[in-house]
Amino acid sequence: MAALSPRLKQATGVLAVRGEGVHLYDDRGRAYLDFTSGIGVTSTGHCHPHVVRAAQEQTAALVHGQYTTVLHRPLLTLTERLGEVLPEGLDSLFYANSGSEAVEAAVRLARHATGRQNVVVLQGSFHGRTMGAAAMTTSSTKFRAGIGPMMPGVVVAPFPAAFRYGWTQERAADFALEELDHLLATVSAPSDTAAFVVEPVLGEGGCVPADARFLTGLRERADRHGILLVLDEVQTGVGRTGRFWGHQHFAPEDGRTLPDVLITAKGLASGFPLSAIAAPEELMAKARPGSQGGTYGGNAVACAAAVATLEVVEREGLVENAAVQGERLLAGLREVAAVHPAVADVRGLGLMCASEFTDADGRPAPETAAWVRQQAEERGLLLLTCGAYGNVVRMIPPLVVTGEQVDRALEVWAEAVAAATV
Ligand code: PMP
Repeated sequence: MAALSPRLKQATGVLAVRGEGVHLYDDRGRAYLDFTSGIGVTSTGHCHPHVVRAAQEQTAALVHGQYTTVLHRPLLTLTERLGEVLPEGLDSLFYANSGSEAVEAAVRLARHATGRQNVVVLQGSFHGRTMGAAAMTTSSTKFRAGIGPMMPGVVVAPFPAAFRYGWTQERAADFALEELDHLLATVSAPSDTAAFVVEPVLGEGGCVPADARFLTGLRERADRHGILLVLDEVQTGVGRTGRFWGHQHFAPEDGRTLPDVLITAKGLASGFPLSAIAAPEELMAKARPGSQGGTYGGNAVACAAAVATLEVVEREGLVENAAVQGERLLAGLREVAAVHPAVADVRGLGLMCASEFTDADGRPAPETAAWVRQQAEERGLLLLTCGAYGNVVRMIPPLVVTGEQVDRALEVWAEAVAAATV
C-alpha cells in the first residue's frame, strides 16, 4: 500500500473536500476560515464561479495546446490582459507552471542578456525549491541543507529587515544599500553581476516589507552598473498587497519603472498552476533559443482561469478590497499585540500580514507561534507560520475577504493568542 511521503508535512490537520470563497470545508463538513489561501494562491477565493466556469468551458474546448507547438486563444488573451496591468515597458511575456520555474527562467534570461553570471539575492528571500531557485533561497536552511552543491553564482546581500536589527526602516535601508555596495566592491564585481532578484515583501521569510528608499537605491545601482532588477512578485503580485503589484508601494518618485523583469504566479490563476515572466521585448530577445518553453507552460485551462481571475480582480475591486481589509486586519493584529507582549512585532502590506512571537528575552519563540496557529485551527481559523525560526504567524486570506470575516478572524486570533500565552 502506498502513502504520501512522510516528509510531505501538512501545516494543518484538515482533509479539505470543498472550498467556497474564504471558506474550506473538511470531510466532516466543518467550515474553516481559510487565511492561508493555499499559500497566497486563491486570490479570488476558493472556486470563484466565474473562474470555475472559464476553466470548465476551456476544458471542454482544449486542455493542452502545447505553446511551442501551437498557439491557443487563452494564451493570447492572457498576454493582452497582462499587458494592461504590467508596468510600463514590460511588454514581452512567457509562461511556466510554478514560481520556481519562473525564477530560474529569469536567471537564465539575465545571464544571457548581460553575459554575466552572478545574481544577488537578499537574505531571508524565498524563491523556490528547484535546485537553482533553492540556491537563491535564504529564508531558512531547511530549503538548502544537505542538497548541495548549490548552483554557483549566487551572492547574498542584506534585506532591510528593520525589526530584526531593532532599527528604523530608514537606517535598515541605508545599511542594506551600503552592504550591497560593499559586496559589489569586494565579492561580485558589477561586470560579473547579472541581476538583483528581490521580493518586494519577503513572504516565507517572515512577511517583511521592503521600502521605497531601498528599492529606489537598488534601481539606481542597477542603472549605474548595467545590472537587471528582477522582482519576484510570485506572492506579492495580483493585488495581494493592496496595489496590483507589490513594488508599486515603493515606486521611485521620478516615475521610473522599477523592474526590468517581473515574475508572477500564485494568485494569477486562482489555483491553476501558472507563472509568467515579463520583460521589455528587446531584453527578452536576448534569451538564447531553447532557453524558454516547457511541456505544460501556458496551459490552456490555466490561462483561461488566469483571464477569468483578472476579470474578477477588476470587476470586484479586489485590489482596493485588499488595501481596505489589509488595514483593518493590521490594525486588529496591533491591538492584540498591544496586550500580549509575546507578540513582538506586527507588520504587513495589504492582505499579507503577520505577527512575530518572541520569548521574554526577545528570542524567537517558534513553539508559541505553532501553539497559537493550532489554537486558531481548533477555533476554525487556518493560518500558516513562516520566518527563519518559524516564529511568525501570517495571515494571507483570499482577496475577496469581507470586513466581517476579518473581524471574525481577529476575534479568533485574540482568543488563540490569549490561550497560548497565559
Ligand atoms: N517566489 C516566491 C516569492 C514565493 O513565495 C514562492 C512560493 N512560496 C516561490 C517563488 C516558489 O513558487 P513555487 O512553489 O510555485 O515554485
